[in-house]
Amino acid sequence: MELIVLGCSGSVAGPDSPASGYFVRGSGQESVLLDIGPGVLTAMQATEGIEPSECHVVFSHMHADHCLDFPSLLVWRRFHPTAAATRTHTLLGPAIAQQHLSMAGADYPDSPDDISDTFDVRVHEVGFGVFDANSWPSHTVGDFQVFAAPAVHTTEAYLTRIHDAQGKSFVYSGDTAATDTLAQFAQGADLLLCEAGWGETSEGKPTGMHMSGQEAGRAAAEAGVTTLVLTHVPPWGDKDAALRGAQREFDGEIIVAHAGMVLNF
Ligand SMILES: [Zn+2]
Ligand SMILES: [Zn+2]
Repeated sequence: MELIVLGCSGSVAGPDSPASGYFVRGSGQESVLLDIGPGVLTAMQATEGIEPSECHVVFSHMHADHCLDFPSLLVWRRFHPTAAATRTHTLLGPAIAQQHLSMAGADYPDSPDDISDTFDVRVHEVGFGVFDANSWPSHTVGDFQVFAAPAVHTTEAYLTRIHDAQGKSFVYSGDTAATDTLAQFAQGADLLLCEAGWGETSEGKPTGMHMSGQEAGRAAAEAGVTTLVLTHVPPWGDKDAALRGAQREFDGEIIVAHAGMVLNF
């Protein structure tokens, strides 16, 4: 599986990275875009081998830093003179996604944009307990199986797990506060892409919103993943501190995400 970090800046786009957006390619022809925050469509255009009209889209949640380039993607898919979408792709997200997205690019507040011409909209289904691919509910998205579990955040939000046809697996925390669910859901995954927006620890930070590097490291250790990738550090945050926190808890490989990073696993 290949993971391209299009944008990893937490909460807002930063001077050296768009906001959240991750491109996933498996062994087949299909690809999935996870979140499309501000600046992500720009990064897609700048990345060789990515055709914006040729991917499925999965949303972790509908905060602005994870979805506000979506109206521009619709323009690209519908109106690009030579590279418009030639088929419908899957859009998988929270139950509130359709309403949010149909308003984001609407001409007027009372005329939501019906996106069913270009996306088949589906809603995450969650499982509970220790992850088991055989019993957990899932959606088939292109060549991938996509699983979800509830995140702890200020809006409807999901942890996402993606398996490709070769059996490789990858978990994306989206935005979440520390929760035992993450380690249970990420059991045995090859890679955990985990937010560490709070820096080294969560001491003194608001509850129910984000994780620290230390909490990300603890989740990676408890889940037994091979690689931990830290992400969603805001421009005012401290990536080195997030890394220090994670290293306290996790002995495996730890990578700090940056825009343009390509990971093969
Ligand atoms: Zn965010
Ligand atoms: Zn959020």
